[in-house]
Amino acid sequence: MKPLTEQEIRSAFVNCTKGEAKRLSVPRDLAAKPWDDLDYLGWRDPQAYDRAYLVTLLDDRPRALALRCPTPASWQTQRGMCSLCLTSPADGVSLMVAPKAGKARQQGNSVGTYICSDLACSLYVRGKKDAGAGARLHESLTLEEKIERTTANVAAFLAKVTA
Ligand SMILES: [Zn+2]
Repeated sequence: MKPLTEQEIRSAFVNCTKGEAKRLSVPRDLAAKPWDDLDYLGWRDPQAYDRAYLVTLLDDRPRALALRCPTPASWQTQRGMCSLCLTSPADGVSLMVAPKAGKARQQGNSVGTYICSDLACSLYVRGKKDAGAGARLHESLTLEEKIERTTANVAAFLAKVTA
């Protein structure tokens, strides 16, 4: 995806208030991110590990989501599969819950899905980050097809939040 600025990211949030979008933590090292290899940029709030964010481009427009990661009890931590990139990373997946946008948010509605805990889906798909033995399915898809599928899954998640 094309590199985004802090300002572009802050104004791209679809499911939090303008005030929240202004205050939330955006990575300081945006210029150093491997944008060419990213289908979305995801990060954890360094001050609040149960908060995560992701931003992607939809029809060339930046769209960002604020996510909550309810901390599971340790016995619940398991090596599941990410619903975006279909990797089962050694670092695990986390249930990430997005409050819905607009009126549904006021009613407390949200959408949850399992995502790689480190939000590094794009790098796992491209083999740029080691997800551990047996983490990736053996598939006959090309890399382009896997990237397309991940992008489509991210778009579908966004669509559920804004629906
Ligand atoms: Zn993933």
